[in-house]
Amino acid sequence: MKVGVLALQGAFREHRRHLEALGAEVREVRLPADLNGLVGLILPGGESTTMARLLSEYALWEPLAAFYRRGGVLWGTCAGAILLAAEVLGAPPQDGGFQRSLGLLEVTVQRNAFGRQVDSFTTPLEIAGLDGPVEAVFIRAPAFSRVGAGVEVLARLGEQAVMVRQGRVLASAFHPELTRDGRLHAAFLGQITEAQSVAVR
Ligand code: GLN
Repeated sequence: MKVGVLALQGAFREHRRHLEALGAEVREVRLPADLNGLVGLILPGGESTTMARLLSEYALWEPLAAFYRRGGVLWGTCAGAILLAAEVLGAPPQDGGFQRSLGLLEVTVQRNAFGRQVDSFTTPLEIAGLDGPVEAVFIRAPAFSRVGAGVEVLARLGEQAVMVRQGRVLASAFHPELTRDGRLHAAFLGQITEAQSVAVR
C-alpha cells in the first residue's frame, strides 16, 4: 500500500518511519503530481502558518481538496489538523488573524489552546476504538473548540476535544509520530484499506 506524507515542513520523517514499520510504502508529497495514485495522506505536525505559506507557494491547496473529493483518506496531526479545519482561531495578528485552511473537517480549531504555562506535555490518553491509552505528546497543541454535527470525537482531554473524525478525515491535536506506539498509524492504514474496498465495489 502506498501512502503519502506531506513533506513541506515538520515531523514528516517520523510519520514515514511509523508507516514503513507497518509495511506501507511511503511517498513524500511536495508537488501536486506527488498525489497521483495515492489513497492516504498524512499532514504532519510542525508550524501551520509556515505550512500554509508553502501550500500556496507549491500550489497544493486545490490538489489536496481534489485528493479528498476523489476518495482520499487524510490524517492531520497538530499543525496538520489545523490545516484540515473549517475555521482557525488564533492566527498571527500580522496575518490579520486569518489563516487559510482546507475546510475538510467541520470544526473550529483553536491554535495553541493549552496556553504558555503548559506549552508542551505528555499524558496518557484514551482513544475510542483503541485498547488502552496512548502516550499523547502535546506541543503548542491546538484543540477542537467547536465540533460540527457530523464529526465524531475520538478523544478528549478534560473538556477539550483532541482527536476527531469526519468520514475519511481524521485529526489529532497531539503527535503519535513522536512515540513508539504504532496503533494509530495501523488504524489509519486500516481506514485506507476500507476506503479502497469501497472504491472498488
Ligand atoms: N502551534 C503550532 C501551529 O499552530 C502547531 C504545533 C505543532 O504542530 N506541534 O502550527
